[in-house]
Amino acid sequence: MNWFKTATNRNTQVSCAALIVMAMIAVTCQPLAAASSHHDSGLEQQLLASITQLASDDFAGREPGTDGEKKTLRYLAKQWFDIGLVSGTNDPSHPWFQPVTLVGREPVGSRADFARRGRPVLVAPGDVRVMTFGRRGIVQNAPFYFVGRMAGDLPSRTELAGRVAVIFDKPAPRVGGEVLPLAVRQNALLEGGAAAVLTVLDSYRTIASVSERRRHQGFALADDAPEGDLEAYITMDGMARLLGGREGLDALSNEANRPDFAPRLLDLTGSFEATTRQTTIRTHNVIGRLPGRHPEEGAVLLMAHWDHFGTCGTGKPGEAHLICNGAIDNASGLAGLTEIARRLVHQQGGPPDRDIYLLATTAEEMGLLGAQAFAESPPLPLGKIVAAFNLDSIAIAPAGGPLGVVGQGMTRLDSGLATVAREQHRKIAASDWPNTFLKRQDGWALISHDIPAVMITSAYGDRPRFQHYLETDYHRPGDVVKPGLELGGAAEDVWFHVALVRYFADPRRWSASVSSAER
Ligand SMILES: [Zn+2]
Repeated sequence: MNWFKTATNRNTQVSCAALIVMAMIAVTCQPLAAASSHHDSGLEQQLLASITQLASDDFAGREPGTDGEKKTLRYLAKQWFDIGLVSGTNDPSHPWFQPVTLVGREPVGSRADFARRGRPVLVAPGDVRVMTFGRRGIVQNAPFYFVGRMAGDLPSRTELAGRVAVIFDKPAPRVGGEVLPLAVRQNALLEGGAAAVLTVLDSYRTIASVSERRRHQGFALADDAPEGDLEAYITMDGMARLLGGREGLDALSNEANRPDFAPRLLDLTGSFEATTRQTTIRTHNVIGRLPGRHPEEGAVLLMAHWDHFGTCGTGKPGEAHLICNGAIDNASGLAGLTEIARRLVHQQGGPPDRDIYLLATTAEEMGLLGAQAFAESPPLPLGKIVAAFNLDSIAIAPAGGPLGVVGQGMTRLDSGLATVAREQHRKIAASDWPNTFLKRQDGWALISHDIPAVMITSAYGDRPRFQHYLETDYHRPGDVVKPGLELGGAAEDVWFHVALVRYFADPRRWSASVSSAER
């Protein structure tokens, strides 16, 4: 509490000094009231109240499909209703809550039998694992086709069809220096016609790590649930066994490294089978709308993901707390969303011209699935959205720092962001570092559908603090409301977004037709 008081006093002095300067250069005080150099402790208290509620054990880590989801949805919709928003689903049979169905595939069975020149070769069960994204994948006595590290062209469909493509995990640079991630190479081979892909784990990955990763990736939107692929992984020991010893494996590895490498058949065959258990999760996005005076001019979208992991502690000794409450990730973004809306409703001059949509997405942590569902079944034509702003994990930086932009240089919004930043006396950091998070946040699901979306926040303007968060509490049970939770930057983010929305929702200031012509 003491901390708040000190900070407030310091910033009040700054504001007074700024007032005098502003008066001297004969600018009205009105812009200053909205300017974010003002430290707003009332707003910080409002943010803290929402974060405390959403990150309480009662909400159980806000996991999709659980009681924690019900509480979260009810809490958000009530807040938005009380502020004066209306349902934004544009679906009278589902007001406020847009249904999203997820299908999960949990690996349950794995079988791999190998033969060399027709004779069975036994590989220890711990050295091989077969997985599928479908319900069941099976291949019988398929010849192994060695494709090395895939630095060259993709083999033809006739070369791959009916065969198991054998690939080394460790990539080799292609002509021009490009290095393709393993998943990209695997998908190319499966789409290219291979019956299965067997990856030799000669890099940092282990059988345990690929299995664990698959468990978390196993969810997809019901309409997109993939079928029938087959991925197998084998350790170096397992592969050496198939090749009759370590020398055989070394020779194969050297062959893959040769600049004149050409794919070829091995004298190996395999039968693989993988099965999964299907689980269905019925979950929801929350969509609210602040009706504009001229909705035909389009809309501005504000979004934040509501979901988190539920329980995610490991239960190791010394880790008593199992719930991942997600105070920063992303109760802070949700609280910000609500407070932006409250200020837009109550600002003088009435509602903006364009509609303002508020979207709290589900299943962000499962791969941006709620945002993807929104983009695939939007409540308004997607082309009507002139700008989208995502808020994710904003309670990081203290007041007074610069803004970082995830998506900078990727959309046509940059000039508008710069204008608003200038008007609000805010600095946008030039660093490209925030863009390393581009595909790890909901805005990416919209950008992929050609909607201009950015995340602009003090959190990404403060790399050391953000990095520290990633290395400590991020996606761990430690992400709870701690005494002195930093909300200075988050409060500034709220005011900055109020200004952003008013700018982009005003057709006289931000023209949708001009901006789309700039594409
Ligand atoms: Zn997260």
